[in-house]
Amino acid sequence: MKKIVAGFIIAHFWSSTWSATTFAADVPYPWPNNALAAVSLSYDDALNSQLDNAIPALDKHGFKGSFYLTLTSPVFNTRKLEWQKIAKHGHELGNHTIHHACRKSLPNRGWVASDNNLDNVSVSKIVAEIKTANTILKQLDNQSKRTFTVPCTDNLANGADYLEAITPLFVGIKSKVGTTPKSMDDVDIKRVSVISAENLTGKQLISLVREARSHGTMVNFTFHGIGGDHLSISSKAHNALLSFLAKNKADYWIDTFLNISLHITLQQE
Ligand SMILES: [Zn+2]
Repeated sequence: MKKIVAGFIIAHFWSSTWSATTFAADVPYPWPNNALAAVSLSYDDALNSQLDNAIPALDKHGFKGSFYLTLTSPVFNTRKLEWQKIAKHGHELGNHTIHHACRKSLPNRGWVASDNNLDNVSVSKIVAEIKTANTILKQLDNQSKRTFTVPCTDNLANGADYLEAITPLFVGIKSKVGTTPKSMDDVDIKRVSVISAENLTGKQLISLVREARSHGTMVNFTFHGIGGDHLSISSKAHNALLSFLAKNKADYWIDTFLNISLHITLQQE
């Protein structure tokens, strides 16, 4: 009798271990509303075509985007009330520094002004600038939590990595160009890879979104101009992406990078 009881317990133990393992491997990442993937639509540099073309397109579908504002952009200063208004409507104002300094020593950087060369800016100076940008943005949107996109994906200031010093200031950081993650286990929310979207067609944008869905992960688009300005995509391509997302709303969680970052942080706690 004893032997029979012991045998049953062992069999049960193995059986439940086996099913627990299988279950863990099959569990999809817990996106809100049982969505299959998250989509972050981000727009860098504070450009006219973002206010003129991207915002009306997003608002038409009720989608919220993240706008990484360069505070010396003339469009930040001349249209400040409009940036404030979009923040009131739930779009995110992200930090993209004040001066948008980039490294002039890298290839194809002839366009970087000599007095705005990150190779000559100390870590303490760029960190102070980023803190000031947060203060200015807070005056606009009254938000205390914020995300950051690294200008030109250049993390070296005067040869030293400045990202460690600013990591505690942000909920999420988009720091490099990459692909859609194959697993959420690989994602460090303070060092997220983005899809650099210039010149992509609607079809290409949609296939990236589908790829994220097939992995159950997320796609982080970084746009610049929409139907104008620099590094742009056409309004047609942008509209095609948004229409696809609107038609497949149950599959995708479209939100600001701030909200996506907060959600991922919560899952990792
Ligand atoms: Zn930029």
